[in-house]
Amino acid sequence: MLPPFVLTGAAASPSGPNAMDFWPNAAVAVDERGVILYAGDASKLPEQLQSLPRQHVEGVLFPGFIDAHVHLPQLDCRGRFGETLLHWLHDFIYPAESRFVDDAVARDVARRFFRALIAAGTSTAMVYATSHARATDIAFEEAERSGLRIIMGNMLMDRGAPEPLCVPVREAMLETERLIERWHRATPLLRFAISPRFAPACSSELLRAAGALASKHDLHIQTHFNETPEEIASVHSLFPDAAHYAEMYHTTGLLGTKTVLGHSVHTGIPEVQLLSRTGTAVAHCPDSNLFLGSGRFPLELHQQHGIRIALASDVGAGTTLDMLSVMRSMCHAQGRSLHPFLPLFLATLGAAEALNLQDETGSLAQGKSADIISIPLPVRAGSQGDLHSRTAVDLASALVFTGSYESVLRHWVGGRELSATPATTVR
Ligand SMILES: [Zn+2]
Repeated sequence: MLPPFVLTGAAASPSGPNAMDFWPNAAVAVDERGVILYAGDASKLPEQLQSLPRQHVEGVLFPGFIDAHVHLPQLDCRGRFGETLLHWLHDFIYPAESRFVDDAVARDVARRFFRALIAAGTSTAMVYATSHARATDIAFEEAERSGLRIIMGNMLMDRGAPEPLCVPVREAMLETERLIERWHRATPLLRFAISPRFAPACSSELLRAAGALASKHDLHIQTHFNETPEEIASVHSLFPDAAHYAEMYHTTGLLGTKTVLGHSVHTGIPEVQLLSRTGTAVAHCPDSNLFLGSGRFPLELHQQHGIRIALASDVGAGTTLDMLSVMRSMCHAQGRSLHPFLPLFLATLGAAEALNLQDETGSLAQGKSADIISIPLPVRAGSQGDLHSRTAVDLASALVFTGSYESVLRHWVGGRELSATPATTVR
C-alpha cells in the first residue's frame, strides 16, 4: 500500500489512433493501490480528492511507454553491421546470447537492461530472454526488482544456431513449464510469454509443443515473422507444405489474440487476412527495419484489416530503447506524412490493446494502473508556461519529431516511483 497522492502539471494521453487528450493544467490522482482515481483538468478534480498531498511535476505527464518487442540479451549488440539478418544473427547475436550461460553476465546485462527501460520511460515491455533457463530466472528476478511491467520468456530454438543455444524439444518444454510455474503472475506486474525465436530456428515439433503449452496456460506468444526475404525463403524450404509463413504458424497453433508477431514487413493479403481472422497482433519495429534494411512496413494493409499494431524498439537490431526515437523512425520509414498522434498511440494505448493490457495500462484514465512518465519538454514546444497556448497536435508533433531523450524526468509504475540509478532501483 502506498500513500495516495495527486500529480499536477501539464499532461497528455492518447485516446485513439487519431486523438490525444491534452490538459495544460492537469491533475492525476492515484490511490493506495497505485490505481488512477482521476486524470484530467485540475479544475475538475473531485472534491473528495482535493485534500490529497500534491506534487507539481515538470515536463509533460504521459502514460508510460510500451515496447512490444525487445531482446534483453542484445542490449550491448546495437549498431553492429551485419549486411543481412541471418549473417547478423550468426556473427553477433548468437555469440552474445551464448555468453548468458555465465550467471554473472546474465545478471549484469539484465540489471542494466531494466534500468535502461526505466530511464527511457518504458513502463511495459514484451521481452525475449535467451534460451538458457537459468539466465531467464535471473532476468525475471531483475524484472521483479525493477518494478516494471514485464511480459517475458526464454527463447525456444532447436536448430539452425550454434549448439549451446539450441535446446531439444523435451528438455525445452520441461524447463519452460518450470519457468511458467515460478514466474507467470508471480507478481501483478510479471507475465510469462511463450517465445519461439522464429520458424528457421525451430522444428515443427517444437513449434507445435510451444503452441500447446501457450494454450494450456493461456499465455502470450511472441515470435518473428516476415522480416526479410532471405528468412522467408528459408521458411519456404524448411516447411514446403505450408502455403505461406502465417499458415505455418497457424497450423502449429501459434496464432491468436494473445500472439504478437514481430515485424510483418513482407506480408501480403492472404497472410494479413489470416492474421485478422485469428485476431493476431503485430509488433512494428521501424528502427530495426531501417537498420537491417528489412523493408517498409505495410501500415495501411494492416490497418485496413483491423490488425492490432504495437510499436517496438527490437533492440539490438533496433539501435535505441527510446520510444520517441522509434516513433520518429516510424514516420520517416513510411515515406509519407504521418500524423504524430498515430505513433504516440501505438506506443501507449494502441500497444496496450495489442497486448490485451488495455484494462490495466496505456493511458491516463480512471481505473488504470498509475504507469506514468514525465517527459522533458522539447525545445520546440517552448517553455512550461507556453504550453497553455499550444494545441494537442503541436505538442504531439514536438514530442515525435524533436523529442529524443536518454532519460525521462520521472517514472511511476503502479503508483511506485522508479529510479534508473544503480544504488536504488526503486525509490
Ligand atoms: Zn526481434
